[in-house]
Amino acid sequence: MSYIKSLLIKPGHKVRLSKIDPDFTAGFKDDQSTQDKMAKHTARLRDLQYHLYAEGKQSLLICLQGLDGAGKDGTINHVLGAMNPQGTQVHGFKVPSKEEAAHDFLWRVHKVTPGKGTVTIFNRSHYEDVLVVRVHNLVPKSVWSQRYEMINEFERTLVSSGTRILKFYLHISPEEQLKRFAERLKDPARHWKISESDYSERQLWPEYTKAYEDCLSKTSTKHAPWYAIPSNNKWFRNLAVGKIVMETMREMKMKIPAPTIDIDDIERKYAAAVRSAKKMHRELNRID
Ligand code: AMP
Ligand code: MG
Repeated sequence: MSYIKSLLIKPGHKVRLSKIDPDFTAGFKDDQSTQDKMAKHTARLRDLQYHLYAEGKQSLLICLQGLDGAGKDGTINHVLGAMNPQGTQVHGFKVPSKEEAAHDFLWRVHKVTPGKGTVTIFNRSHYEDVLVVRVHNLVPKSVWSQRYEMINEFERTLVSSGTRILKFYLHISPEEQLKRFAERLKDPARHWKISESDYSERQLWPEYTKAYEDCLSKTSTKHAPWYAIPSNNKWFRNLAVGKIVMETMREMKMKIPAPTIDIDDIERKYAAAVRSAKKMHRELNRID
């Protein structure tokens, strides 16, 4: 069985995060052969995204979730680094603006979902509305608890109009998070990434764990599956996410559209253009 399958949250399965080892690397090591594998994924991803764009009929939505320091930014860099910026977008979800908060929670999300031929990555997503919102009691339980079903329905709507959805929960340990906070603190170029809330949110680790467990259990569906990615090792996180995105895009079986022009006719036009270019060249270089 491919290690990828072991990372999938099976629909209807009750998730216990304590059972998922954030140090898991599926027997891979951070060595040359892993680097070679990733380079292959990168090349394949580039091709597949080109096909998606050329075909213009389907789209891919990737949702990234995880606690502060889990590596959402690094994952985006890795996956999109393989793709052509034309046809890809990243959308980050922050505390809702006044206008966003005045609407239903999916309003700001729906309008930035990927159009046909494109890939969109969500850095955080509509899932914040059953995570941070639940942990901080931003709305009553009677409200957030209905959202799982609403999310499943929303995602079903996207899927039925040609969007593939992949959701990744980047799983790190509290120790690894603290290590990453220390690295940020040591590097002035990364100070902008630090926020006070990193430390207060960290105190709520058990509450977030519970919220994530419910979220993953209730919203991993056949049409929009969650993968829990062991993310203490950044290289393994990149390897696994890259592989899952690649396999999924392969399954999408994109077809490069047939040309809308008559290639034989264009070949004749090309030959004529070459002949007249030669003539033009001779005329331009004529010394009178
Ligand atoms: P960052 O991703 O570090 O830039 O931080 C964005 C912040 O916005 C995080 O603390 C999120 O929890 C918060 N956030 C995102 N979506 C929501 C939401 N729907 N309600 C409240 N806070 C949110
Ligand atoms: Mg942050």
